[in-house]
Amino acid sequence: MRLGRIFMNLQHKTTLLSFLLSAAMVVLIALVSLYFFRQFSLDTAQEHVRSVAEVVRVSLTESMRNNVIGDRQQFMQRLTDIPGLLTVRVIRGVEVDKQFGAGLASERAEDDIERQVLTDGIAAFRIVGESKTPIFRGTVAFIARTDGEPNCLSCHKVADGTVLGAITVEISLSALQRTAITTIVIMIAIIILFGVVFTLLLRWQLSLMVQTARGVQKVVAHARDGDFSGRLEYHGKDEMGQISADLNSLMSHLQHDLGAISRDVSRLMQYELQGNTNLITTTTEMVEVLLEVAQFKQAVEEDHSLQDVYVRIGRVLTNQFWIEHFSIYEVTASNSHLRPVLVDGETEADCRWCDDKILVRADACRAQRTGHVVQSFQDAYICPCFVHSPESKQMGHLCIPIIHSGVVGNVVQIVVERKHGQLYQLLQPFIQVFLRESASTVEAKRLLDTLRESSLRDPLTTLHNRRFLEEYVLTLESSTRRRQTQLSVLLLDLDHFKEVNDTWGHDAGDAVLKAFAKLLSAQVVRSSDMVIRYGGEEFLVILQGNDAAFGVSMAERIRAAVENLRIPSNSVVLRRTVSIGVANFPGDGENIAEVIKKADLALYQAKEGGRNRVVLFQESTASHAAEA
Ligand code: GH3
Ligand code: MG
Ligand code: MG
Repeated sequence: MRLGRIFMNLQHKTTLLSFLLSAAMVVLIALVSLYFFRQFSLDTAQEHVRSVAEVVRVSLTESMRNNVIGDRQQFMQRLTDIPGLLTVRVIRGVEVDKQFGAGLASERAEDDIERQVLTDGIAAFRIVGESKTPIFRGTVAFIARTDGEPNCLSCHKVADGTVLGAITVEISLSALQRTAITTIVIMIAIIILFGVVFTLLLRWQLSLMVQTARGVQKVVAHARDGDFSGRLEYHGKDEMGQISADLNSLMSHLQHDLGAISRDVSRLMQYELQGNTNLITTTTEMVEVLLEVAQFKQAVEEDHSLQDVYVRIGRVLTNQFWIEHFSIYEVTASNSHLRPVLVDGETEADCRWCDDKILVRADACRAQRTGHVVQSFQDAYICPCFVHSPESKQMGHLCIPIIHSGVVGNVVQIVVERKHGQLYQLLQPFIQVFLRESASTVEAKRLLDTLRESSLRDPLTTLHNRRFLEEYVLTLESSTRRRQTQLSVLLLDLDHFKEVNDTWGHDAGDAVLKAFAKLLSAQVVRSSDMVIRYGGEEFLVILQGNDAAFGVSMAERIRAAVENLRIPSNSVVLRRTVSIGVANFPGDGENIAEVIKKADLALYQAKEGGRNRVVLFQESTASHAAEA
């Protein structure tokens, strides 16, 4: 399962986003509010200062008109009783001092601001003591005007617009500041509360989505590993519920259908599916193998000879299963012994990995005897016939019997390094599919070969018969020509054989024929040479690659051996002689049939000449025979 790829889930993302948005809103609103509150506080304070200044101006004017200006200090004092109004102080201008004399000590300009206001008449405002209890201080000029009521110039002897004095008022901003801070805190609290509620609501809505998404993710991750049993729990009637239902139905389909396909395919392969198998990969692999097997089977069926089939099986072992060392054995028809037909890819090889005794005793091979697969990866000495040489010490074997009509027809032995034993035990079912699929073709081809072989042999003497020669003759002629050698053809006919039948019976005649055939086989030992029962008591010996003289000397040897042959039959010991005609191919004829005819002429001459003799065909023989 690859959940690790997710850096942050949807819920966390949403929470973080809401938090960041709320925080940004809080900061922004706090800053904006602070700015406007400050601005508002300053404007309000300024208005207050101007109002106080106006009240003081009116009051001072009235005091002057009522001649009670001397009591102005008391009035000022009373003004400071107003909450928030800290100090109210009047500053006398130069012109007033000049006209009315210097006023009270407290009415002198105290700092540059006041002096500046007295000079230019422009009001000045500023905040003092801002850190703890902020105080707003404003200094506003009283300017002589002629347009008001009363006219300033009626008392003051100054020019219009002269600064008569100023007033400095200090107002506490604490109350305003408190209100501002309280408002901002409440606003922030509301925003935070809103943010939290919004986030919780969003999370609640998203949790369903997140849970479904996680469920989907988990189910899909399991499905990727070939496990389709995962299901989603949510059954709501919304989009998530629909997704759950769709995914669950898809999984059921896959589990059911793919499971059925897998089971069928594994049944086809006779492969047992494990509980924790990845259905997708296993089924894909099995289908791939089956496809290859189908192609292999067709190729095997179309192969010409049995040997081609064995070579093809060998190629599958090497190419598909990387097996370098293996043996394919044929169990002979009589079940008596094994015959290696392909060893490590070679067709004409000896037993390499097994004791030779299996070649004479098939049941020494454990796989042949039991009909079960025999492997030595757990028990190295399971089969005593496996050769445990220093060379094969690291190797183990897996011997698979192939059954033909209920009996073991072949044994395929796979020899691999012991360390790969587990792998090959896993591969065994796959290898067996190939072997099983080829078994029927191998069996049929073996049967055909046997039939063919029997039709080409004489049952009495087991020698090849005349049909064999007819099938083989063209190959024989062309290969002799190609190799520019020659053949000696010996036609042999037992002398007065009929007498044997007539005197001692047909069985005695058969015994003579068998003994004669045996003698011929013993005399003609080279695999390239052949002995054929040509007719009743006529035999043909074909010797390859030798000149006429060799043919004659061989014929002479045979003749002499027959002369000395004692054939026991019932209570008698029979003796026979043989007449032999010799001719050569291509010297004595265009083809072998012609040469046999020439040998027959020579044989006729041998009979004529008194039997028990060898005659080499010569043109004079032919004319002599023709005369006869
Ligand atoms: P010759 O020296 O002229 O060859 O005399 P022959 O008696 O050998 O000649 P012939 O061809 O007249 O006799 C051949 C006999 O061989 C005739 C036949 O009964 C016998 N024969 C042929 N096939 C068999 C067989 O399979 N078994 C037996 N027992 N006899 C056979
Ligand atoms: Mg004859
Ligand atoms: Mg004869």
